[in-house]
Amino acid sequence: MNVGAPQPSAALPATIAIDGPAASGKSTIGHALAQRLGYLYFDTGVVYRAVTWLALTRGVPISDEVAVAQLALTVPIDVVAPADACDGRLATVLAGGEDVTWAVRQPQVDANVSVVSAYPRVRDALKMHQRRIGHAGRVVMVGRDIGTVIMPDADLKIYLDASPAERARRRCEEGRERGLPVSYEEILAAMRRRDAFDSGRRTAPLRAAPDAQVVDSTDLSAPEVLQQIMGLIVAWQEARD
Ligand code: C5P
Repeated sequence: MNVGAPQPSAALPATIAIDGPAASGKSTIGHALAQRLGYLYFDTGVVYRAVTWLALTRGVPISDEVAVAQLALTVPIDVVAPADACDGRLATVLAGGEDVTWAVRQPQVDANVSVVSAYPRVRDALKMHQRRIGHAGRVVMVGRDIGTVIMPDADLKIYLDASPAERARRRCEEGRERGLPVSYEEILAAMRRRDAFDSGRRTAPLRAAPDAQVVDSTDLSAPEVLQQIMGLIVAWQEARD
C-alpha cells in the first residue's frame, strides 16, 4: 500500500489538531493538508494576533488584561476563505469588519501577541468561538493548545516541531519574499523569547498532548512532512479497522 494515500473508502479523522512553536511549518502543512482532504483550515494564532492589533491601534494598553479582553468579547473577528485577489494569503482575517490579514503580521504584533494570548480572560473570550468551528468537523485546526485545551478529543493530534535555527531561517525567507528588511539574529532572538513565553505561561502553555504524534520538520521539506502526516492518517484508519 502507498503509505501516503489514505484509503478512500475508510473514514477520515474529522478533526485534526496541529500544534507547535512559531514557524514549525504548521500553517503551510495545515493548509496543504486541509486542501488535500477538502477540509476547513483554521489558523487560531490569527485570532490572538487580531486582538493584539486591535489593542495597539485603539490605544488600549497591552498591560490592561480587562480592557484587552473586552476587545476580544466585543469586536467581531472572522477568518474567511481568501477572495480572488491572491497575495499569498491562506485566509482573510477581519477585525471589526476591516481586513487585517497582513497588519496582524507586523513585528509590533509579534512582539506583543504572547502577552495578550497569556491572559486567561482573553483565552476564555476566544475559546467558544474556536470550539464551535472545531466541533463542526472536517477541520484542520492549527495553534498552540488545540490538542490540549480547545479540542482534547480531536481525532488526530500532531505536534509539529523544528529547531529554533531552522524556524528562524524560514521566517527570514518569508520576510524576504514579502520584501521586508530582515535580520536572522533578531528573528531568532524574538522567536526564542516568544517560545519561552508561550511554553512558560500558566494558562494553556504550548506543549504536546500526551497522545499527540510528534513530527520534527527540521530536515524535511514541506512535501515530506505532508507525506509523513498522510502516513499518520493511514495508520489512524488501520487502527480503526
Ligand atoms: O501561530 P502564530 O505565531 O500566528 O501565533 C501567534 C501567537 O498566538 C503565539 O505566539 C501564541 O502566543 C498565541 N497562540 C496561542 N494559542 C493558539 C495559537 C496562538 O496562544 N492556539
